Amino acid sequence: IKILAIETSCDETAAAVVVNGRDVRSNVISTQIDLHTKFGGVVPEIASRMHVEKINVVIREALEKANMTLDDIDVIGVTYGPGLVGALLVGVVAAKAIAFTKNIPLVGVHHIEGHIAANYIQEPTLEPPFLCLVVSGGHTHLVHVADYNTYEIMGKTRDDAAGEAYDKVARAIGLPYPGGPKIDALSKEGNKDAIAFPKAMIGDGYDFSFSGLKSSVLNYVNSAKMKGDELPIADIAASFQNTVVEVLVTKTMALAKEKGITKIALAGGVAANSGLCEGMEAACNKNGFAFYHPSKILCTDNAAMIGSAAYYEYLRGSRADMTLNAVPNLPLGKKI
Ligand code: ATP
Ligand code: MG
Ligand code: FE
Repeated sequence: IKILAIETSCDETAAAVVVNGRDVRSNVISTQIDLHTKFGGVVPEIASRMHVEKINVVIREALEKANMTLDDIDVIGVTYGPGLVGALLVGVVAAKAIAFTKNIPLVGVHHIEGHIAANYIQEPTLEPPFLCLVVSGGHTHLVHVADYNTYEIMGKTRDDAAGEAYDKVARAIGLPYPGGPKIDALSKEGNKDAIAFPKAMIGDGYDFSFSGLKSSVLNYVNSAKMKGDELPIADIAASFQNTVVEVLVTKTMALAKEKGITKIALAGGVAANSGLCEGMEAACNKNGFAFYHPSKILCTDNAAMIGSAAYYEYLRGSRADMTLNAVPNLPLGKKI
């Protein structure tokens, strides 16, 4: 089954062709990062307009790279939530137009289920059940993937997402949006034990909280500035990253042990973080768990992951029609 997948939930216009859920024939991503950097974050109206400009180009390129035309495509998969409503709509409308004119099935995909499915592309032998730590720009979820279409949220952030904390801390120490990759790089030059930031809720269930950590970094930065001290940005980056990683790894391991789950996966943009991958891998090795994480390009927003998730939704029998709409706050695991 050849799926053309479309993703426009945030600031990446993306299209991909994926065969049978795991075989990626093309994965085209047009990122708008440069346009949003000068505003310090994603501006929704600009994102929507750019998606409109790019969507056809990106779809055409995905088909060309896969050596296919629309006549070869069996199913259209599209992200319909969660995300920015205006941005999502561009992908949804394009997908509906193709499905209607070519008279082929349309499948709506949850963006975070897509992030999780990136692991199926990376590791063709991976099958549920497994525990997935989803860490992205807008989500921090511990998800028990019981089956391809069955997701159980075991813990989630009560305030900021991990990626959001990365981006806000980055901004405070003068790094441009998106700050996650830049803090990751800078932290390699710093001392992770230089500053003791609070490890929020570490012994307290499976929910997360990152706003206290973020405030603590901001306070540190402000008081250093007030004293006229030079900011030790590499030490701040390393200490912040170390704190985030320790909280994420500790909770994931505790939950896996409690639930008796032996396969651990990462998903979402922050899954590209080198410290998180190293920390989680070491902990998994120590506990005898298998560890999975997508390559960088499959961690951040892309359409190949949507093509994989769409395949399993298609097998389940999920079909959308011309009433499919963007749902900005779509809950994980909700079935249509
Ligand atoms: P969501 O998926 O929750 O809707 P999103 O699609 O905007 O949000 P993603 O594309 O999944 O988010 O991830 C983007 C986030 O990942 C940003 O916050 C970015 O800073 C962060 N990120 C990317 N690479 C790294 C890295 N190496 N280390 C830490 N954070 C990273
Ligand atoms: Mg993005
Ligand atoms: Fe995302």
